[in-house]
Amino acid sequence: MRVLIADDCPVIQMRLKKHLTEWGFQPVITTDGKQALQVLTSKFAPRLAVLDWMMPIMDGPSVVRHLRKEELGPYAYVVMLTSKSKADDLVSAFAAGIDDFLTKPFNPEELHQRLRAGQRILHLHDQLHETLEQLKYQATHDALTGIWNRRAILESLERELNRANRNIQTPEATSIVLVDIDRFKSINDTFGHVAGDCVLKSVGDIIHKSLRSYDYVGRYGGEEFIIILPATAPDQVKIIVERIRSNVEKTPVDIGGGRKIQITACLGVVTAGKNSDVEQLIKLADEAMYCAKSNGRNLCVFADQIRRPGLSESEQSAQISNLGCDSE
Ligand code: GH3
Ligand code: MG
Ligand code: MG
Repeated sequence: MRVLIADDCPVIQMRLKKHLTEWGFQPVITTDGKQALQVLTSKFAPRLAVLDWMMPIMDGPSVVRHLRKEELGPYAYVVMLTSKSKADDLVSAFAAGIDDFLTKPFNPEELHQRLRAGQRILHLHDQLHETLEQLKYQATHDALTGIWNRRAILESLERELNRANRNIQTPEATSIVLVDIDRFKSINDTFGHVAGDCVLKSVGDIIHKSLRSYDYVGRYGGEEFIIILPATAPDQVKIIVERIRSNVEKTPVDIGGGRKIQITACLGVVTAGKNSDVEQLIKLADEAMYCAKSNGRNLCVFADQIRRPGLSESEQSAQISNLGCDSE
């Protein structure tokens, strides 16, 4: 483990270097506060530091104060090694953000044990950080398919719509697509739930691979997925949804035991207008998707094909049934 030494006294530098090397650490030596801060805020910075108080350019407490304020990268554990020993000095050094304090002249073995205590704290800190990252991942991803979960995709949708409403310069709107696997229940009934799960994973994967890096896909529920296509021209939306439909159709799903099955899906597409809300858009995408179901499945249907602006509720219902769709 690398340990930063920040001290302007060559004798202390040499002593610390010798001891740290004996204890199995890799010393990184700096001779003023500015250099020390640069090293501590660099990429792959040492996580342990032994810092002098009085140094040229910037003193030890100022280095720590800057370090704590910037909160860059993983936490660094700082031991202050100084000839200052008054209670007031201790208080102000801890207030600046140090973790431990040792007075010169120091007992080398005491410093060794204090550094080991620092290592233990860093280890706990890293474990906590890793657990937090795992929890964040689990809270936002669907365990089966690995794509965004319902809550996360709906949050992204809310965020995208707000962003699109603020950005009046862009002529392209945000489109939302609801994807529903066709006759999924019969896949479960015929081949079992494990096969059904293989199908869900495969469809999540196919959609994910068919999208651009700034599009989103999430699992909305059971065998339904939501796709968000931010700032996309209408002809581009058509190309993307048709590509997804076709990729699902032409990619056989391996359900184990050497068996592969062919599947299809319906896609309901809606483009957000000014101030559209999430609930209203999903309702429209859902209607379009059900329209695709009642028109034979394996289809993409656009909400504006079944809903014309300016029509009353009853006129719209008539339009929907003319297209062979059940309105609700
Ligand atoms: P349609 O073509 O009209 O969409 O019919 P469908 O059979 O796909 O739709 P339906 O809503 O009747 O059935 C969805 C099924 O999805 C029912 C439910 O048991 C199953 N399901 C939901 N979540 C999961 C899951 O996580 N794994 C598996 N294997 N099945 C699931
Ligand atoms: Mg469904
Ligand atoms: Mg279905």
